[in-house]
Amino acid sequence: MRFASRRDEFLPRAFYNIKADLPEPPKPPLHPGTKAPLRPEDLEAIFPKSFIRQEVETAREVPVPGPVLEAFAAFRPTPLVEATALEKELDTPARIFYKYEGAGPVGSHKTNTALMQAFLAAKDGVRTLATETGAGQWGSALAYAGSRFGIETRVFMVRSSYRHKPGRRALMEMFGASVLESPSPATEAGRKFYDQDPDHPGSLGMAISEAVEVTLKDPGVKYALGSVLDSVLMHQTVIGLEAEKQMEELDAVPDTVIGCVGGGSNFAGLAFPFVRHVLAGRRRTRFVAVEPEACPTLTGGKLGYDFGDSAGLTPLLFMHSLGPDFVPPPLHAGGLRYHGMAPLVSHLAARGLIEPVAVGGQAVFDAGALFMRTEGILPAPESAHAVAVAAAEALRARNEGRPRTILFNLSGHGFLDFDAYARNGNGRAA
Ligand SMILES: *Cc1c(COP(=O)(O)O)cnc(C)c1O
Repeated sequence: MRFASRRDEFLPRAFYNIKADLPEPPKPPLHPGTKAPLRPEDLEAIFPKSFIRQEVETAREVPVPGPVLEAFAAFRPTPLVEATALEKELDTPARIFYKYEGAGPVGSHKTNTALMQAFLAAKDGVRTLATETGAGQWGSALAYAGSRFGIETRVFMVRSSYRHKPGRRALMEMFGASVLESPSPATEAGRKFYDQDPDHPGSLGMAISEAVEVTLKDPGVKYALGSVLDSVLMHQTVIGLEAEKQMEELDAVPDTVIGCVGGGSNFAGLAFPFVRHVLAGRRRTRFVAVEPEACPTLTGGKLGYDFGDSAGLTPLLFMHSLGPDFVPPPLHAGGLRYHGMAPLVSHLAARGLIEPVAVGGQAVFDAGALFMRTEGILPAPESAHAVAVAAAEALRARNEGRPRTILFNLSGHGFLDFDAYARNGNGRAA
């Protein structure tokens, strides 16, 4: 049997901050009004002060606070598994490893930064965290983390998901969160769209505007974002830091690292600790960022300054973007529907360190179903994008007759997404 097991030793005591190792710094965020580089104090109306300190942190290693480490220890290190049944099924000489982030509370990697953000907010005496959620994974992660650290959570949920995913909404409410359908009549930003069409399907950009607006109007409320920001990506590096040690225990070094990208956090969390060695000139590794064809931020978007939301309330970020007014089709992988991409991921993609690829439709669900038949875990539709590319790479290795070592992030499970699989044929073609 081959599996990584040295639990305590593998649990990271510090996050990895890639900004300490970049040869060229990314372009700074700009103030939405003055368009001047943002000062940390400009963010204080929106984010808890302790969170802002993480966002502007320059140290390479940033300690995991004790109470967060304790919360992590309940489910971290998450499993690093060689997908031997999938390898056999694909008849490939490649070794395929996955890091399983669905093993934690509420079933996705988002719990990692949610715990950090709720802890930092509680430390600053914040009463309520407002946020948005697409498919519901971020909302439920923050609702759980909030309940753990005594923070109230208010979630604007994109209407198309709110109506299609009653289970996710119930989960958030069971943690004590209040959940509003977005666009809602409760905010100016929401009313603009709601008044045109009370059944407006919504978008993450609109839901972010609503959450930021309620934050700006109430000093007891701060805002939490589940992806995109530098510090959110940094919180997710526990994934890659663990994976690297777990792979070492199995005598394996990945030549290809794969993750799906919505805002970029689970991909960065797995990849950045490995990118570190490439930046230092010690290794050559391929990093593949997989996005949906229906929301092709890296492969079809423009690199430049853009707003993170549709009302223009957030700072301007230098990133790949489809434009804040982009309303993607009601994609089943709701977590990949964001119009922008993390500035740090955009920065590395622009320098050729990350290869973006877009995949779509049936192939994604078939890959997810194949993974379940072989490995027994149903991937979240988002994660199935990474599975599809990992399987394609393994088949390429077979055709080329070359051994390969592939590592991908199984960012979440799909056991609350059976409806999406059912609407896509339950993998009958796989
Ligand atoms: C939210 C989500 C994603 C996409 O967000 P990133 O910030 O790009 O990681 C991917 N997978 C799952 C399971 C998610 O919940």
